[in-house]
Amino acid sequence: MKSCGECGMCCKLLAIAPLDKAAGDWCVNFRRGAGCAVYADRPPPCVGFMCLWLDSEKLDDAWRPDRARFLMYTEKDGKRLNVIVDPASPMAWKREPYYSRIKAMSRRVMDGFELVVCIDTRRVVIFPHEDVDLGLVNPEHKIVSGYAERGGQSVPYAMVLSDVTDAQLVQD
Ligand code: SF4
Ligand code: SF4
Repeated sequence: MKSCGECGMCCKLLAIAPLDKAAGDWCVNFRRGAGCAVYADRPPPCVGFMCLWLDSEKLDDAWRPDRARFLMYTEKDGKRLNVIVDPASPMAWKREPYYSRIKAMSRRVMDGFELVVCIDTRRVVIFPHEDVDLGLVNPEHKIVSGYAERGGQSVPYAMVLSDVTDAQLVQD
């Protein structure tokens, strides 16, 4: 059974609304080497959070988020994997052995899965054969992605929906 150890990356990289903590800022309650100073009273988003490394036997110690410099978690009933990169190491996800494995994970997009790399407010949607960089995206806005038929071929697309009438299409 894995444990967080000295990690604490979720206490930096995630926004925690009840604490008014922004994504990318260390939580004021985090103590290096000692962990959460308010563990028994930490807010519900902290209680409920478990990153993919902690939950998966398939990811070895190199993937512990403080070593990898990014954390991963699933949402939408496992239909979306978010890779949240430490803004202090924005290219960490491109290093090996990470990038090849992330690309391999993206093979599931053919089944409606979505894999999104988040570097501060930049969003990159990963497909097996290309990465679609959406640039800076309002975190409140929704991303949709998948494959569309074009010229008799199936091509990947990713799109930011700021509202139903305002869509920015990024498509190859
Ligand atoms: S990012 Fe994962 S391993 Fe690190 S402290 Fe949070 S839950 Fe634990
Ligand atoms: S309250 Fe504790 S568990 Fe939650 S982000 Fe802060 S240090 Fe981490």
